[in-house]
Amino acid sequence: MTQQPFLADRLQGFGTTIFAQMSALAVKPGAVNLGQGFPDTDGPIEVSEAAIQAIRDGHNQYPPVPGIPSLRLAVSEHRARFRGQRFDPDSEVLITAGATEALAAAMLSLTGPGDEDVTFEPYYDSYAAGIAMSGAQRRVVTLRAPDFSFDPDELAAAFTAKTKVLLLNTPHNPTGKVFTRDELTLIAGLCIKHDVVAVVDEVYEHLVFDGEHIPLATLPGMAERTLTISSAGKIFSFTGWKIGWACGPEPLVTAVRTAKQFLTFVNGGPFQHAIAVGLRLGDDFFDGYTAEMAAKRTRLCDGLEAAGFDVLRPQGTYFATCDITPLGDTDGVDFCLALPQRVGVVAVPSQVFYDNTDAGRRLVRFAFCKKDSVLDEAIERLSVLKANR
Ligand code: PMP
Ligand code: GLN
Repeated sequence: MTQQPFLADRLQGFGTTIFAQMSALAVKPGAVNLGQGFPDTDGPIEVSEAAIQAIRDGHNQYPPVPGIPSLRLAVSEHRARFRGQRFDPDSEVLITAGATEALAAAMLSLTGPGDEDVTFEPYYDSYAAGIAMSGAQRRVVTLRAPDFSFDPDELAAAFTAKTKVLLLNTPHNPTGKVFTRDELTLIAGLCIKHDVVAVVDEVYEHLVFDGEHIPLATLPGMAERTLTISSAGKIFSFTGWKIGWACGPEPLVTAVRTAKQFLTFVNGGPFQHAIAVGLRLGDDFFDGYTAEMAAKRTRLCDGLEAAGFDVLRPQGTYFATCDITPLGDTDGVDFCLALPQRVGVVAVPSQVFYDNTDAGRRLVRFAFCKKDSVLDEAIERLSVLKANR
């Protein structure tokens, strides 16, 4: 790999994120972007109106470092309402600049040189970068297609005396896997045995179609060692607002806040007011959002199957992973780089989320958080591939 000038050693190899690369291809006139995971419609009007009102009301200066009290209270109520968890809004909730900052601040504050962090691959791209910025090393356990299960022995072997953090994402991007209670029990057992902190990215918690979302923190012995991370961008379809949060026991939240205050200090003052409104919306909003995305999952997955892809139907998230082998292709990166030119569609090669690139070589990810008309257009364009084999 060519070295980038000026870039510190620990960040060598982290070029431009795949999402930015693929969205750049999508600016070609007429391209349909099923690459980067952002909705193409706004979230609830009550929430955007609340943001406008907050600006009008003058909430335009620095909010408090942990986040405004009404949002922290709303987060605590939301966790109690949906997950049965209890967090003290004053000491156990921290508002962050998206889940991304919560993840980075967690890695920077909890781990450092000489430490190891265990995670599953494919992994969300900021995990590898966050671990690298902290100076720790990652140990990766492969989720193997088609069901994205893992080998328990491989996971057990990844834990060593140096392991500091287990970084988990459920529901999982990019595979759409929802970890089962049995899998989580196994993971929890290893965290307890090795006295390891769990950082759990639950940004897709409201997008579970099959199975059940179980927070790792609710398993016996885990509440006191788990930091749970969420994103208003993903819950309310306002990804550009960058409001996220981390919940956990006070010592963990305090550690993460220590790093966070020197990353952004604070962020999104008026948006914090609006998300407090969003978290208190009725069940009709949350149920409606899940149902809407479930219908889009079916629409896209059925269409991709008809277009000749081997679709690995997601249980959650708004991403569908496909194997491109039936279309005569063997490398997802080549496939995704050529796709905008071939048919005017943008997708993301899952391979870039693996250390063991062979395990993800033939997998590509399509986002279905898009208008039905956009999904239909993408399917129609992709259908040409089969005919042109
Ligand atoms: N974790 C996962 C698994 C994601 O897919 C994303 C993208 N939204 C993030 C974290 C980052 O969330 P945010 O945009 O709130 O920083
Ligand atoms: N989380 C989004 C995805 O997985 C992208 C966010 C980003 O571009 N960093 O597609």
